[in-house]
Amino acid sequence: MAIPAGVKTSPAFPIPDEQRAWVLGDPGQLVYTKKPVPMPKKAEVLVRIDAIAICATDLDNIYHGPPAMIEGGLPFNKNWTPGHEYMGTVVALGPGVDEYKIGTRVSVEIHAGCGQCKRCREGMYTSCHNYGLNYGDVDKGHRANGFTTDGGFCEYQVNNINTLVAIPDEMSDEEGTLVVTAGTAMYALTELGGLVAGESVCVTGPGPIGLLTVAVAKALGAQPVVLTGTRDNRLAIGKELGADHVINVRKTPDVVAEVKKLTPGGKGVDYVVECSAASNAVNEAVRMVNRGGKVCLAAFAHEGVVPVDVAHIVRNNIYLYGIRGEGKSATHRAEAYMAQKRFDATKIHTHTFALDDLPTAIRYAKDRVEDAIKVVVKAKMDKIQKEAAE
Ligand SMILES: [Zn+2]
Ligand SMILES: [Zn+2]
Repeated sequence: MAIPAGVKTSPAFPIPDEQRAWVLGDPGQLVYTKKPVPMPKKAEVLVRIDAIAICATDLDNIYHGPPAMIEGGLPFNKNWTPGHEYMGTVVALGPGVDEYKIGTRVSVEIHAGCGQCKRCREGMYTSCHNYGLNYGDVDKGHRANGFTTDGGFCEYQVNNINTLVAIPDEMSDEEGTLVVTAGTAMYALTELGGLVAGESVCVTGPGPIGLLTVAVAKALGAQPVVLTGTRDNRLAIGKELGADHVINVRKTPDVVAEVKKLTPGGKGVDYVVECSAASNAVNEAVRMVNRGGKVCLAAFAHEGVVPVDVAHIVRNNIYLYGIRGEGKSATHRAEAYMAQKRFDATKIHTHTFALDDLPTAIRYAKDRVEDAIKVVVKAKMDKIQKEAAE
């Protein structure tokens, strides 16, 4: 492989010219192909991708397009590789990079941001004002791997050093892929006020982000932590991750009343983190929360415009926050908690497949085959693991 001037490599990690990569064709169509291995520029490293988790947002990108945005438009038939929740090993350093060493295992967060707009300067790089402007004569250097640039359903990818967090040897590859999910949970609680110790939190929706929000809230000392959802098996995992109470909304006629009952004086919880994307979720959340309470919306709703009871929100001084992904280096704080074993994120990892079997892995995630929650894909699965997965 021709290595550009200034890029450092190591004989311990030989870099091939080509890699296996999945690219998106028409909606829902993934094609297995070969791509050149990209080379890191200034402030970037090359990561050998050891494991990648499938996220519900990957399914949005692959089947519908947004929020992925490639060259200013839909991501179809642009030789684009999706996938964003990955971890791996640093195998090459861009010119001037001394923050990471070759051989270091890292988790990556998605958004590098442009680094020059108002929001990036505030640490809100997931709300970069130059989102997706990384091509042609509008190139601002923005990267969100798996959204606006090539992602991780392949063997190697370049990442800005700002998106990396080193992980300990004891953390498995699979757990490493969950740092970014826990980072979103940490970001939600950061934006809501951060200091939730002794305060009550309700998480609506036991998807991966909801479940890890329960775990992070409990680790931060929230009390009580309530989780609502429709699937008993996922609610049971929520209990294992620290929920004090779980409520199956299908078996509970008035979920708002039930949540309020669990709080002092029945006044409602201090915070709600909405992770369900259900059409009635916002109106229920603003009724579960107490007067002056805060609601964070962390799920992409799919049903378009939803009527919201604005008068109730105003009369009760309720704060509503939308968050995108994980900003303000929340992944670093999430990783610190995971490294200290403050919670066991691996409880949400259910299946592992080889990179070659990505379409099967996606089917498991999409159709929740065998109650799949987090499905992980590995480029180099050893034989035993592969047999176990089959
Ligand atoms: Zn994701
Ligand atoms: Zn920016």
